[in-house]
Amino acid sequence: MLNIKNLHAKIEDGAEILKGINLEIKPGEVHAIMGPNGAGKSTLSSVIAGKEDYEVTDGEIIFGGENIIEDAPEDRAHKGIFLSFQYPVEIPGVSVTNFIKAAMNENRKAKGLSEMPAKEMLALIREKSEQLGIKKDFLSRSLNEGFSGGEKKRNEIFQMMMLDPKLAILDETDSGLDIDALRIVADGVNAFKNEGNAVLLITHYQRLLNYIQPDFVHVLANGKIIKTGDKSLALELEEKGYDWLLN
Ligand code: ADP
Ligand code: MG
Ligand code: MG
Repeated sequence: MLNIKNLHAKIEDGAEILKGINLEIKPGEVHAIMGPNGAGKSTLSSVIAGKEDYEVTDGEIIFGGENIIEDAPEDRAHKGIFLSFQYPVEIPGVSVTNFIKAAMNENRKAKGLSEMPAKEMLALIREKSEQLGIKKDFLSRSLNEGFSGGEKKRNEIFQMMMLDPKLAILDETDSGLDIDALRIVADGVNAFKNEGNAVLLITHYQRLLNYIQPDFVHVLANGKIIKTGDKSLALELEEKGYDWLLN
């Protein structure tokens, strides 16, 4: 599904941040990326999603068999790459429901499909929101306006479930996810996951991996993946920190 080869990237006019990343993700897999602050984890997720603040200087990102390096972020999204928003914008007057309807139909349009019939859309919204324990009044609230941390997470996960991407990249920053928000993310990922899609979960929290079983755990440090293991690696990191890996 995703094959990253020798990926190097830098900030526009700045220092190199990714220094030769190799990562292969197959359908049905959950990969966790952990690592010290400033390692380049968020940069990697931004570069996969195609955010324009970064310049790829070497390497390839193959998604579904094609190199997507030249694709705009929206084209990557249409091809099935979803990146959770770290700092979601507030859109007063646009409800959670109307935002997702517009995003869904825009996505369909890009694929040459007509708008989803209203009835079908409503049924899908009902199904996904029920799966996530989202209440009706939440769906009619203005997007992100006055949302708590947990509500922002719930909305992100709802968007992921609705858009049903092939690859979901969730970048969980160190900005205080409480246990409820952690649960929302974990339940959402577990409900989303199937044999045909994949999840790249970036996290500082070993705790999150108590609720989501990763197939692979990678340690990213100083722009490189320096170690790959299974879930036991996350446990080892929780116990020992990162220092033993960084010499
Ligand atoms: P992580 O998510 O692992 O904490 P980041 O990818 O956010 O790390 O950052 C990696 C390094 O690149 C840090 O030193 C950070 O300051 C720098 N960096 C990332 N994005 C930018 C940017 N847009 N402008 C300047 N520096 C940046
Ligand atoms: Mg950081
Ligand atoms: Mg980060």
